[in-house]
Amino acid sequence: MLDKIVIANRGEIALRVLRACKELGIKTVAVHSKADASLMHVRLADESVCIGPNSPTESYLNIPAIISAAEVTDANGIHPGYGFLSENADFAEQVERSGFTFIGPAPDVIRLMGDKVSAIAAMKEAGVPTVPGSDGPITDDDERTLNIARCIGYPVIIKASGGGGGRGMRVVHSESDLLDAINLTQSEAKAAFNNDVVYLEKFLENPRHVEFQVLSDSHGNAIHLGDRDCSLQRRHQKVIEEAPAPGIDEDARATVAAACTKACIEIGYTGAGTFEFLYEDGRFYFIEMNTRVQVEHPVTEMISGIDIVREQIRIASGLPLSITQEEVELQGHAFECRINAEDPKTFMPSPGLVNQFHSPGGNGVRVDSHLYSGYSIPPYYDSLIAKIITYGPDRETALFRMRNALDEAVVDGIRTNIPLHQDLVKDKNFQKGGVSIHYLEKKLEED
Ligand code: ADP
Repeated sequence: MLDKIVIANRGEIALRVLRACKELGIKTVAVHSKADASLMHVRLADESVCIGPNSPTESYLNIPAIISAAEVTDANGIHPGYGFLSENADFAEQVERSGFTFIGPAPDVIRLMGDKVSAIAAMKEAGVPTVPGSDGPITDDDERTLNIARCIGYPVIIKASGGGGGRGMRVVHSESDLLDAINLTQSEAKAAFNNDVVYLEKFLENPRHVEFQVLSDSHGNAIHLGDRDCSLQRRHQKVIEEAPAPGIDEDARATVAAACTKACIEIGYTGAGTFEFLYEDGRFYFIEMNTRVQVEHPVTEMISGIDIVREQIRIASGLPLSITQEEVELQGHAFECRINAEDPKTFMPSPGLVNQFHSPGGNGVRVDSHLYSGYSIPPYYDSLIAKIITYGPDRETALFRMRNALDEAVVDGIRTNIPLHQDLVKDKNFQKGGVSIHYLEKKLEED
């Protein structure tokens, strides 16, 4: 078992990883930027190392500094959290080459799934349903391209193979615009991701975002922990997530879940991962895989009782999964609201001093947050400051508990999006369940 882990992240996820390490009796090393010396997990860790100035490129993305921190503290594992270097295959490779354990899949697996064209090809091969599309890169044979788009049918979406974070995509509604749009996307992709490979997919008009959580070990075992609905999004950023996804066709769900675990074994996946799908008219379409722990993992933990970060650490230590698929029991319903330090109307970031923080509580309420009264939120990083998670035996109860929890929360001194969440949990369509990925943006436009 790993016995000392460097937590190569910050904020709530660093604290989440620290808590899992403590439970497992593993020593922790917090690495942080200058601005982050007063983070909660830095105070709670066994050791801490300042790895650079405030800018993320010089600290949380600074590979040599993170590896040096592992060396000087004699750690043996590195947990990347989410964001930052978590899906950087070069980082994983350098960690392993320096003699440390990267808590995540092997570098070549990260690479395979990080490139969308190769990821889709691998998924097709494993029997995971994908979006009808070009099945590979667009070539400079324009006639071939036009034919592919005609077969798919308009609208189509052009996507950059190296894209991520909602960037490098363009929707095209008619044939006359296609070739120009492809050229533009290629040059943008070249500039942004140093990779001009683009491909085509059918643009689904009104899908939901439904994803499956998997765990896969180095002994050939893979299980899934069911699905999550993350359709409530603004600018491709998830705002509220829930598990399980409501109103999903049971046969389609079971078939896709089985295909995901099969795919894990076929690609030699090790660790926690998420298969993201669009879901429309009772059918799933794979869009990408995230090869790391996700922000929304707690909703799955609530309905499964399984600690996903603990499993990640066990798998990286070479241990088999602690549960079998038959032992996984999904019960009840859970929601997560992402609380950001931002204006609830303009969405402008609102960093600064938190004079007072009061966390909600009660039956079925979990709060993952690094906030404390007197903490000052630095302006250099993501604005996520807390995740309020509620659980109930049924969806209605979980949602009611979320209403109460949001009403109880106090974050004084800065602006937060709590008022937006209070509004959303009372929204009639959201209460019904199953809104599409466009619902929130349309609602915001109307208000
Ligand atoms: P990224 O890696 O940038 O997050 P994804 O492939 O996950 O890119 O797509 C991001 C979002 O773009 C999806 O959640 C969805 O909202 C939209 N999208 C992607 N592909 C399609 C598609 N074929 N049809 C409709 N919307 C899509």
